[in-house]
Amino acid sequence: MHNSIIQISKSALKNNIDFIKSLINESVIVSSVVKGNAYGHSIIGMVPILQELNVNHFSVYSSFEAKEVFKVVKNDFTIMIMGDISGSDEDWIIDNSIEFYVFNIGRLERMLSKAKKIKKVLTIHIEIETGMNRTGFNQKDWLQIIQLVNANKDFIKVKGLCTHFAGAESLNNYVRVKKQQLVFNKAIIFFKSQEIIPQQIHCSCSAAVLAFSNKNYDMVRVGILQYGLWPSREAFIAYISKLNINTNPLKPVLSWKSYIMDIKHVSKGEFIGYGSSFLAENETIVASVPIGYGYGYSRSLSNLGRVIINNNRYSVIGTINMNMFLVDITSSNSIDINDEVILIGSSTDLDIPLSSFCNNTDQLNYEVLSRIDKDIPRIIIK
Ligand SMILES: *Cc1c(COP(=O)(O)O)cnc(C)c1O
Repeated sequence: MHNSIIQISKSALKNNIDFIKSLINESVIVSSVVKGNAYGHSIIGMVPILQELNVNHFSVYSSFEAKEVFKVVKNDFTIMIMGDISGSDEDWIIDNSIEFYVFNIGRLERMLSKAKKIKKVLTIHIEIETGMNRTGFNQKDWLQIIQLVNANKDFIKVKGLCTHFAGAESLNNYVRVKKQQLVFNKAIIFFKSQEIIPQQIHCSCSAAVLAFSNKNYDMVRVGILQYGLWPSREAFIAYISKLNINTNPLKPVLSWKSYIMDIKHVSKGEFIGYGSSFLAENETIVASVPIGYGYGYSRSLSNLGRVIINNNRYSVIGTINMNMFLVDITSSNSIDINDEVILIGSSTDLDIPLSSFCNNTDQLNYEVLSRIDKDIPRIIIK
């Protein structure tokens, strides 16, 4: 047994996938973004239940993650690598028709020479630089990639033409993202004029699906929304105010639970934990929970975090240690060793949303999720 468990809710996932589908046209493919170990939910746990919900397209960051998806995926599926390909995985990618982004000529030339040797066709997505200035072909290089593709049509299938927005989750970036849309549009026209007719044009992440739902083209690459979280607080508020609703249409998929390892009484005037960040101003009852920053429970929750025990909320006191943190349970007289502690999730009446971690610290929900220890068991629940 591990010292905590993560529960993955299938019904919450279904709710979120239905919500995403309600935002897009029926013909638009939903690519489930499962990079970062499926945003901490685990690739192995998520991929099969996504497939049960008829999601069969998976976007990953690296060839390493592509292999993780490949281990558990069934029937008809597509795996698309948006980022890193390690040299030792190139043959595997070609052999298994794994799709991948091309954002420089070198990658395509290297893969092409391997594909030619084994007489296989590469299925690529050409990434366009539209203004994020991360990866993608600048306009001055469009013709070069087009010529390389057109000279090797038997070995290269351009499945997609794509880009990524530099922060569609915030109005701060509105002008920049609008400019990106114009450049992307220009690229689509140019590539088509050069006889490159991609089957899938795609640019939308979760925030873009919410903000520009009429510009989704053929596929959306959705990460955070499917896990039941918003790309930003601003995106959430924009959405509910646009529709004039006050309920959250998303349901968080993940909850994280541990237990009380020990309980002790501390006298008034003593410091609790490392250093002097928490002073017991009264007799204090302290419960220890065997989870710390080593498992992804951030140190920035020191003296700030909250947990639920027996349907009541309690405060984290002192600093978060590598393997342990402490909770002030003075106000209760009914808590025992081994009682369940909810770190993220809800009890009958209360909720510790993951977003509360972000309000108290400067972390993104993406960051909190992707740092949760891979070794904690993920259990699929209804
Ligand atoms: C992570 C990522 C996405 C998904 O982003 P969300 O905000 O989680 O929907 C889409 N496209 C690319 C290129 C990404 O890196």
